[in-house]
Amino acid sequence: MTRSRTGTAAVLREVGGALQRTEIVCNELRPDELLVRMVGAGICHTDLSVMEGVVPVPLPVVLGHEGAGVVIERGSAVTSLEVGDHVVLSFDACRACRACQRGLPGYCTHARALNYACARSDGTTTLRDATGPVHGGWFGQSSLASIALASERNAVRVPRSNELALLAPLGCGIQTGAGTVLRALKPSPGQGIAIFGAGAVGAGALMAAVAARCSPIVVIDPLPSRRQLALELGATHALAPDEVGERSSGLRKVLGGTLDFCVDTVGTQAVITQALNALGAPGVCATLALRGGANPVSISQTHLLYGRTLVGVIEGDADPHTFIPELVRMWRAGQLPLERVIQTFPFDRLDEALAKMRDGSVVKPVLTFGGIE
Ligand SMILES: [Zn+2]
Ligand SMILES: [Zn+2]
Repeated sequence: MTRSRTGTAAVLREVGGALQRTEIVCNELRPDELLVRMVGAGICHTDLSVMEGVVPVPLPVVLGHEGAGVVIERGSAVTSLEVGDHVVLSFDACRACRACQRGLPGYCTHARALNYACARSDGTTTLRDATGPVHGGWFGQSSLASIALASERNAVRVPRSNELALLAPLGCGIQTGAGTVLRALKPSPGQGIAIFGAGAVGAGALMAAVAARCSPIVVIDPLPSRRQLALELGATHALAPDEVGERSSGLRKVLGGTLDFCVDTVGTQAVITQALNALGAPGVCATLALRGGANPVSISQTHLLYGRTLVGVIEGDADPHTFIPELVRMWRAGQLPLERVIQTFPFDRLDEALAKMRDGSVVKPVLTFGGIE
């Protein structure tokens, strides 16, 4: 056993059960793989969905798909990354299929196998513990662990920083929200946007909308603390869902005009109805939430007919290899105040981080694993 390939991971053994901190070993690297010592790992709602059984994966498994860390070993075929590089781990994509070649790896033909199978293509697992194989490779990383196995495909080099842990949520949540605005909707300055839900994805969308000089920017969230934070981050209005109303008349009254864009981070019939009713003509509503299963919603074809679009967006339509460096530049320029939405927790306070994410008191918990060195 190579000592540097041992670590501690949060292992899910049964749906509905707690994550158990367990000593694990990363198996021998394949030529295209990397071993990353984790510095920070965000928790995303999709991780909670697995814990609740909404998204089925093989067990036991290590979750976590917003890792940031330092490369400590690389496979023989890895050429673009060096040992010692700081990396943010994002979702996995084959980089070769039609969608990947078009620069839209979120829609990779092999996305399900690469992100949800939690095993290599030959069925082998990347991790083991004292009792046997453990599934790794969740989103090509399984980063709720002090070490993780990833690849060049989903590891994005970022400038070396003592604040590397803060960059972890660029791998999924912040990328999804910010990418939806900057890559999918592409607003011009002065265009109006409403963002439904002020969790991490909504916060990413808000920061991007502020950077893109959208106006007005309306954030809708049931939690007063999140509405307050939205205003501090640059929203022009922050409303509770019942202030919007099903027909969104409350929203239109506040704005005195129409909206060009809506971002739905909730994914329910009620919110999609509100968002579409709030849209001007023409207008685009992006829906982002992963609810699991079919999740049917009904919409008015007549309403859409007037130039309105409802579009689903995965991972912000972004290619992490170009978009994450762009987000890092925005963060360094003060346009992406990640520290305002992130609270860090040492890995041994995992249960507290999960509880505070569930009750909404923390927007984005990031677990930390002992610093850069
Ligand atoms: Zn692909
Ligand atoms: Zn995610």
